[in-house]
Amino acid sequence: MITAVCFLALAQNVFGERRGKAWQRRGMELIISNGFRSELQLSWNRRNYRLPAINLGSGQLPKKPVGNVACPSPCCCSGGRSALQQFVWSPEGEQTCCMRSCLSHDPLGPSDSSSFCHLTHFTSSLKIQVIEDDRNNRGSEPFVTGVRGQVPPLVTTNFLVKDQGNASPRYIRCTSYNIPCTSDMAKQAQVPLAAVIKPLARLPPEEASPYVVDHGESGPLRCNRCKAYMCPFMQFVEGGRRFQCCFCSCVNDVPPQYFQHLDHTGKRVDAYDRPELSLGSYEFLATVDYCKNNKFPSPPAFIFMIDVSYNAIRTGLVRLLCEELKSLLDFLPREGGAEESAVRVGFVTYNKVLHFYNVKSSLAQPQMMVVSDVADVFVPLLDGFLVNVNESRAVITSLLDQIPEMFADTRETETVFAPVIQAGMEALKAAECAGKLFLFHTSLPIAEAPGKLKNRDDRKLINTDKEKTLFQPQTGAYQTLAKECVAQGCCVDLFLFPNQYVDVATLSVVPQLTGGSVYKYACFQAENDQERFLSDLRRDVQKVVGFDAVMRVRTSTGIRAVDFFGAFYMSNTTDVELAGLDGDKTVTVEFKHDDRLNEESGALLQVAGQRQGPGRKCGMSVSGYKKAAGKRVRSGERGLAEELVTSIDVAETNVFFYPRLLPLSTTEPPAVRASEERLSSGDIYLLENGLNLFLWVGASVQQGVVQSLFSVASFSQITSGLSVLPVLDNPLSKKVRGLIDSLRAQRSRYMKLIVVKQEDKLEMLFKHFLVEDKSLSGGASYVDFLCHMHKEIRQLLS
Ligand SMILES: [Zn+2]
Repeated sequence: MITAVCFLALAQNVFGERRGKAWQRRGMELIISNGFRSELQLSWNRRNYRLPAINLGSGQLPKKPVGNVACPSPCCCSGGRSALQQFVWSPEGEQTCCMRSCLSHDPLGPSDSSSFCHLTHFTSSLKIQVIEDDRNNRGSEPFVTGVRGQVPPLVTTNFLVKDQGNASPRYIRCTSYNIPCTSDMAKQAQVPLAAVIKPLARLPPEEASPYVVDHGESGPLRCNRCKAYMCPFMQFVEGGRRFQCCFCSCVNDVPPQYFQHLDHTGKRVDAYDRPELSLGSYEFLATVDYCKNNKFPSPPAFIFMIDVSYNAIRTGLVRLLCEELKSLLDFLPREGGAEESAVRVGFVTYNKVLHFYNVKSSLAQPQMMVVSDVADVFVPLLDGFLVNVNESRAVITSLLDQIPEMFADTRETETVFAPVIQAGMEALKAAECAGKLFLFHTSLPIAEAPGKLKNRDDRKLINTDKEKTLFQPQTGAYQTLAKECVAQGCCVDLFLFPNQYVDVATLSVVPQLTGGSVYKYACFQAENDQERFLSDLRRDVQKVVGFDAVMRVRTSTGIRAVDFFGAFYMSNTTDVELAGLDGDKTVTVEFKHDDRLNEESGALLQVAGQRQGPGRKCGMSVSGYKKAAGKRVRSGERGLAEELVTSIDVAETNVFFYPRLLPLSTTEPPAVRASEERLSSGDIYLLENGLNLFLWVGASVQQGVVQSLFSVASFSQITSGLSVLPVLDNPLSKKVRGLIDSLRAQRSRYMKLIVVKQEDKLEMLFKHFLVEDKSLSGGASYVDFLCHMHKEIRQLLS
C-alpha cells in the first residue's frame, strides 16, 4: 500500500497583443482536439475573421495561414483561393477574386448554385483532414514536453511522450497552450482557458510510469507560503541555499539534506538525477502527515450489494452475477508486484430489507443477518463481514451458489436504495477503511425508507422549460448521503438494470460525487445482454483505483482555477475531494485571470493530490462540457450522459460528439465524415461514439462480402439488429471482428454491436449519430451552418 502524492506541472506561454494571431491559430487547433464545437458560438470580429466554432470535423482547415492555394473547384473561381480557406485565415484586406466572386452571391439563396457548390467543395473531402494531417505529421516523432507553449498532437493521433519537464498531455491537456496576457484579450478570444486532468491515466507500454521520489521522514519539499511542491521551475538562488517559488515568488530555505551546488547557469548540478527537478510528472512517497488522522490507511474493501427483488431474479441477473463473481474475485486490483490483492470483500443482498452475510473462513456455511429497520440501518456484524478472498474462498463460493436459490421464488417487487449505500458506507466506517460499493439495482426505490422516490417521468415536460427539472435530483437526501460517503472514502459504482423508469438523475448523485461510475442496461435479459454487462463488470472490478484522495490545483500569479467539473465533491473552493479515482476519470478545471500575465515568466499550473489504494496516484482538469451534453441525447438517457460527459477524457469526449465512421473496404480505414452523404451503398461501415457501435451495410454491397461476413447468401437475408457476427475463417471476417475488438478495447465501456441495413427501420437510430446532417427533429446541418457563416461574413464585408 503506497500512499503517494502525485505531482504534475505544466508551463504555458503567455503573450500580448503582438502575438495574438498566432494564439488564435493555436487556439483553434485546440478546439478541434477538445471537441468544443457546440460550445462556441459563431464569434468573430471585424478584424480577424475568427471562426472558432466551425472546426471539429471540418474537412479542409489549413494548419497555417493559406497562401495561394488553388481552389479545388473548376466550376467557380478556378485558379483563385478557396473562399472559406481564405476567410478563415487571411489577414484583413487580402481577399482575392475568388473571395469577391463567392461572397457576391448569397449562399442560402435558391438561385445561387455557384456559392453553394463552393461550400460543398469545402466539405467534400471524405476524410477528416485535420485528423489525418496530424496523424501523418506528428505520429512518427515522440512529443517532447520540454518546450514551453507547444501544442501536443491531437488525441486521435497515436504518439509517444518524452517527459522533459512539463506534464505529459496524457495527464494534463489544456484548451490552449498560449494564454492571453489579460482577461480582456481572453474574453475576446472566447476560447475557454481550461485543463483536462487525468491523474491516473493509463500509459502505453513504451512509456514509463512516473518515478516515485522518497524524501524520507521529512516528506516532499514544498514552498512554505503556497505549499506548492518542488518542481523543475523552482529557481535556486544564493548558491543553492534558497529557492524562489515559481508560483508565489516566496523565497524559501533549502533544507541542509537537500542542498546542492549550482552550475554556471544557475541550475543544480543534480537536476537530472532528481525526477522532481527534471520531469513534469512524478510521485512523492507520502509521510504519515499526509494521511487522514495522521495514520497510514488500512487496505480498502469492495462490497458487492445485490438487488434480489423479483425483477433481478426474473431477468437472470442474480444468477449470472453470482456465477461471475466466483471467478472475478481472483482478479481484484493489487499493489505493484504483490502476489495477492490486499482488497477485502463483503456481500449484501437486498429488496425492501437488507441481508448481510458472515463469510468468515472458519465457518462451514455463510450466515445471513437480516436488517429490516431500513430507516436507521446499522451493520449487524463486524467480524466476518469483510474478508480476504483466498482465506474465505470456500464460504464465499458457497454463498454465491446459494443466493440465486434462496431468492428464486421471491414475490418481492419493491426495493430500497439509500439505505443500501448507507449500510455499505457504515460497514467501511466500522472497519476503518476506504473502499468501493458495487450496487446492482433494478427498480425505482419506492419502498418506505429514506431516499424513497416517486415516478416523475412526465413526457409532457419534454421540450418545455420545465424539462430540465427531470434531470435534477428529486430529493436532497442523496447529496447528503454522498457527502458522508466522501468523508469515509466510500466510492459507489452503480449498475442499473431497469425495465421501466428509474430516475437516473437522482440515483446517480452518489456515484457522481464519489468518483464512481454508472452503467445502465435497459430491459436487461441475461441471455442477450450478458456479454456487455460482464465485460463492463470485469473491467470495473479490475481497474486500478485510488481512494480518499484530495487534489489541489495551484497556479502561478495572475491566473486562478475558478471552476471544476467531474466526478468528485468539493466542500470548499480549492480542494477536490475524490472518494475514488480511477484511470478513466478526469477532472476539468477552468481558469480566469486575476491580473496581467508576464510574457517572460509564462503561466504555470501544478496539480497535486494525495491518495491511497491498491493502485497508483492522483490528479485533475477544465471546461464546459456540461452544456453540450444533452444536445444529441434523448431525454431518458441524459442523466447518464451528464454523468459520463463530465468525467471522461478528451479522446472520449471527442468521439462522443463526433462519432468515428470507418469504411471497411480499405485496408487501413481512415475515418470519414459523419454524414449520410459519405455512405456508399456498395460498402460497409463501422460507426462508434464510445457508447454505441453500429455496422452499417449498404444495399448493393457485393454478395461475396455478405457471404464472408454474415454467412448468408444475400443482403436481404442479413438479420437486421444482429449483435454478434458469426466467427468465420476468412480474411474479411477476421479483419472486421478484429477491428470491433480493438475499438472496444479503446473505450471505457463495452459497446454493443448493432447491425443496420440500408433502408431498414433501424437505420433511423444509426442516422442519429451522423452529426453533420440535419437532426431528425430539424435544425441545421453542418453545411447549412457553413452557409450561414458564409452569409454572415459576406454581410460584414459589404
Ligand atoms: Zn509558493
